[in-house]
Amino acid sequence: MKLVLFDIDGTLMDSGGAGRRALEYSFEELFGIPDAFRAISMSGKTDPQIFAEALAKFEITMDGNGPVFMKTYIGYLGREIEKPGKALMPGVSQALSALKGMGQVSLGLLTGNYEQGARIKLDALGIWNYFGFGAFGSDDADRDKLLPYALKRFQALKGINSSFSDCVVVGDTPRDVSCAKPYGAAAVAVATGKYSVDELSSTGADYVLPDLSDLKKFLNCLGLGPGE
Ligand SMILES: [Mg+2]
Repeated sequence: MKLVLFDIDGTLMDSGGAGRRALEYSFEELFGIPDAFRAISMSGKTDPQIFAEALAKFEITMDGNGPVFMKTYIGYLGREIEKPGKALMPGVSQALSALKGMGQVSLGLLTGNYEQGARIKLDALGIWNYFGFGAFGSDDADRDKLLPYALKRFQALKGINSSFSDCVVVGDTPRDVSCAKPYGAAAVAVATGKYSVDELSSTGADYVLPDLSDLKKFLNCLGLGPGE
């Protein structure tokens, strides 16, 4: 069984800025500071990590702020995701349909989004139901610790004793690659986010693709090509 674990933002979809706006509005509502995330890069980071960076920037202590922030953010995200601008990345629809029909593949998520946020984003584009399990920013703020969550959930769900070497992480940033490789999982990097093919090529990714529109090539990268 091959476990294909997708990142969300920049890989499956573009939220049209809904994620960033929801973070900004939540921070302003709770702490009275607008545009708190303006200078904070978000690519490949987990939601709680991004929140912690903003807290540190304004010298606010974490105290019990994490859960309150998450709840506020989820509320705003549900509103913002309804606005125009969101879109699936090229080839995503086709790739998910093809993978879903393969008996030897299980589709999961490995994302820095809070779990509820992941669901809101993917539901808005009709693809949440493709994914049976996953690991989320709400499991750990450190993306490098997420892969074991995904694997354990898969094992519990299916009762199959898969290992890290059965996993392929698909993501758009160097952080997606570095959360997979130390475990011996494969990484496919896709340049539909903020990083170019050239930049991703120096990350140690097993494969780098411009996008997911070439299904045959993508399946080959996953080790699911003809004859495999
Ligand atoms: Mg991403």
